[in-house]
Amino acid sequence: MTRPVILWFRRDLRLADQPALAAAVASGAPVIPVYILDDETPRHRKMGGASRWWLHHSLASLDADLQSIGARLILRRGKSDDILSLLAKETGASAIHFIKHYEPWWRNAEKSLAKALPAGCDLECHDGNYLLPPGSVTTGSGGQYKIYTPFMRALWQHMPPAKPVPAPEKLTALAHWPTSDALSDWGLLPVKPDWAGGMQQLWTPGEQSAKARLEAFADKAKFYDEKRNLPSIAGSSFLSPHLHFGEISAASCWHATMAAGGSVDVFLKELVWRDYAQNVICQFPEYGGRNARDAFDRMPWRDLDDPAVKADYTAWTKGQTGYPIVDAGMRQLWATGWMHNRVRMIAASFLIKHLLIDWRAGEKWFWDTLVDADYGSNAVNWQWTAGSGVDSNMFVRIMAPLSQSEKFDAAHYIRHWVPELSDLGEPYIHDPEEHGVRPKGYPRKLIGHKQARERALGAFAGTKG
Ligand code: FAD
Repeated sequence: MTRPVILWFRRDLRLADQPALAAAVASGAPVIPVYILDDETPRHRKMGGASRWWLHHSLASLDADLQSIGARLILRRGKSDDILSLLAKETGASAIHFIKHYEPWWRNAEKSLAKALPAGCDLECHDGNYLLPPGSVTTGSGGQYKIYTPFMRALWQHMPPAKPVPAPEKLTALAHWPTSDALSDWGLLPVKPDWAGGMQQLWTPGEQSAKARLEAFADKAKFYDEKRNLPSIAGSSFLSPHLHFGEISAASCWHATMAAGGSVDVFLKELVWRDYAQNVICQFPEYGGRNARDAFDRMPWRDLDDPAVKADYTAWTKGQTGYPIVDAGMRQLWATGWMHNRVRMIAASFLIKHLLIDWRAGEKWFWDTLVDADYGSNAVNWQWTAGSGVDSNMFVRIMAPLSQSEKFDAAHYIRHWVPELSDLGEPYIHDPEEHGVRPKGYPRKLIGHKQARERALGAFAGTKG
């Protein structure tokens, strides 16, 4: 009897272009696909509520896809290395195949798994969630890039990525499947209150839906450059949660948009941002919680233990700041688990600079509420916005939310997400208070732009020297 092999799924929940699965199938052995809900590996960051909602549906979809090719998904809960070594012993597996992950806790899990495995069971590590393996794009002297643009140029030399590999048509069945938890017992879905209604309307997690999104977007990718910054229209791909959970590979996105024709480089360069973020956390594993620039350790952030500051923070989370574009974005986030990229920048900048609240509080809120919450991408973008990161944005460049709102034509977007303002025309809708309009139920600004700007610049000046 051929000994089975284990296929360990994490943020790579797909069958097509999945190198660990392809290698497991190529071994000719029966394959045991397993997903472990791991909240225990040291330094683990527990998935936020929106991600857990997504995960539930994505796992259900993966299981259905596996069943259609003669297998099933085994679910276990606990510390990954313990569970996998136990499963290897239980099934007599000869190998564990997995795609390498770069979050600090996954690195820990991979390291300790190597020590915990029973004799005769090999670890087979693969790459495949990024355009290129993180850490592999190096400078002329063999160092790592810290800044996006030179990183992108160097990566570009190696493009296009390899053509995606189709999903296997059949997996060798196992005579006796190991026991599995029931997905419904994991409690990943919200119950009281069930806040996932808006997410359900916008999203269908899973590989099939990821493919459909990509197909629908590929023809539009050539218009991405002119539309991506306009929150009032759906000009971007909406692929981020599918990419985060690995329901589709970056290579598939690359090739599908290229094949559709037209100039798609601007879109492809956004995919490279995703690779860049992984490269940053490869170099700086603590990036999600530690300033890359020391000056920011001296920043006099307002204290969240102070009730007035906490009230400002809460107003930001609820979309009650008195700045329509910020409020529209924060309400879109709460309702759908996603926010337009331009608005993410404006809302993040507002928290950090207008409210002078530490970027880490915002990063945590996004972590909990985004369906695409990603340790690398989230931290890199928050630190970039703050100016505390390894790349070059400066704290003193303070975004003016109101002129951003006008410039990027956000009126329709605001009308949709902030119904209190739906009767207002332009220019009033971007800044009702400035125009002397007091729409019923809409708050006054937490702080004026000029005053906020002066306070932020003063605070930053104090960090020098
Ligand atoms: P598109 O514009 O269609 O881009 C295609 C893909 O490229 C995206 O799906 C994503 O995988 C990648 N991408 C695009 N922009 C970026 C970027 N700036 N950084 C990294 N990857 C990018 N993105 C996340 O995936 N997870 C996060 O947790 C996250 N947090 C963010 C926090 C802040 C403060 C900001 C300003 C941005 C954040 N982003 C994050 C980046 C970006 O906003 C989203 O990737 C994008 O809005 C997703 O929509 P889309 O799929 O339509 O993107």
